[in-house]
Amino acid sequence: MITPPPLRNDCFALPAGVDWTPVDEALSLLQRRLSAVTSEETVPLDQALGRVIARDVAAERSNPPQPNTAVDGYGFGGGVAEGTYTLPLMPGRAAAGVPFGGPVPAGKAVRVLTGAALPDGVDTVVLDEDTTTDGQHVAFHGPLKQGANTRKAGEDAARGDVILTAGRVLTPADLALAAATGLAQLPVRERLRVAVLSTGDEIVEPGASAGPGQIFDANRPLLLAMLHRMGFEAHDMGRVPDDRERLRETLDRAAGQCHAILTSGGASAGDEDHVSALLRDAGAMQEWRVAVKPGRPLALGIWQGTPVFGLPGNPVAAMVCTAVFASPALHLLAGAHWTNPVGFDIPAAFEKNKKAGRREFLRARVRDGRAEVFKSEGSGRISGLSWADGLVELGDEACDIRTGDTVRYIPWSSFGI
Ligand code: AMP
Ligand code: MG
Repeated sequence: MITPPPLRNDCFALPAGVDWTPVDEALSLLQRRLSAVTSEETVPLDQALGRVIARDVAAERSNPPQPNTAVDGYGFGGGVAEGTYTLPLMPGRAAAGVPFGGPVPAGKAVRVLTGAALPDGVDTVVLDEDTTTDGQHVAFHGPLKQGANTRKAGEDAARGDVILTAGRVLTPADLALAAATGLAQLPVRERLRVAVLSTGDEIVEPGASAGPGQIFDANRPLLLAMLHRMGFEAHDMGRVPDDRERLRETLDRAAGQCHAILTSGGASAGDEDHVSALLRDAGAMQEWRVAVKPGRPLALGIWQGTPVFGLPGNPVAAMVCTAVFASPALHLLAGAHWTNPVGFDIPAAFEKNKKAGRREFLRARVRDGRAEVFKSEGSGRISGLSWADGLVELGDEACDIRTGDTVRYIPWSSFGI
């Protein structure tokens, strides 16, 4: 069990003199300043999907463990040149899991079935479909290279090879590889626990009765679900009105239970922006003005040793900021590698003129191989988030996009959501 050191209070500090921070610089700061805060545990394979590998893991057994045949056919020793061959058959056969008892002398062949360990004296297999047999002999045409239709011991992974590296988020295929190489359990990081809370006097619980001026809490279901998709343990800390004491209590509880905290709303510098006010009072608040649209300033801080991501209240900005900034940052806290979302360069099905100085993320989806964007860029339009399957990322520089121009499309899945 390893317990990493706490984050430094100033880990979110921007370099002096920086006003609007370019997205790449903000990301690179997060990458450099954050590190794993989770401890290590061992879990069986059936609990390992989506978990972060805690340290490099080596194969305990080679795969395949011994040479075997890749096809059904007849095995013999050595390759053969061009020509016609008739070899006497040994009685019996080699099947998967049921080896042939003895050696196969030179000049003889034996029946072999896919996955069977090659008997001594056999290193080459001729495919069933290329043979005729009378039960006593097998006849076929050469040439056949030595080793044809067989798999070498350890050709997939050899015992001792590192098969999974620290920081990897385990996929279904990784579990297959671990199982095949003799591992029934894996060292993983404890699941990152992330608290989610919404702030604002206007916010009411979905399903409750909402008076004039009140709106239902959209961000909490959004953020809890995003965290769930990222493989983290999301803790619902509920809604907090614009009341500093209530917020303080909730942050205290969240910090006691979780490795990180996501808040939405109240993160700007207004009268009712209590998240930023509290973090500032605690002396560990950084206001990140990232040159990104959609996005308001991000309030980043450390509350009782626990990193807090103060997201904008606006659901569109909250989702985009979580995907672009919080997701890779939380993955680092969870012990995973830093990941840059995989994007795809595809033709635009839209036109757009954009000024320099700010990166823009548009709600987008792919239809007929082209990127469509949502009809409105209104930052309160949750319907556009739901309509979209991902984002189009427009670089910091100015651009004038015409239909058919190449743009970068990033599906939600590339953000881990
Ligand atoms: P704020 O960042 O607190 O100034 O909020 C910005 C906008 O987002 C306001 O219109 C809020 O009403 C709205 N908003 C804040 N929190 C939520 C939430 N949890 N669900 C939906 N909208 C919200
Ligand atoms: Mg508010």
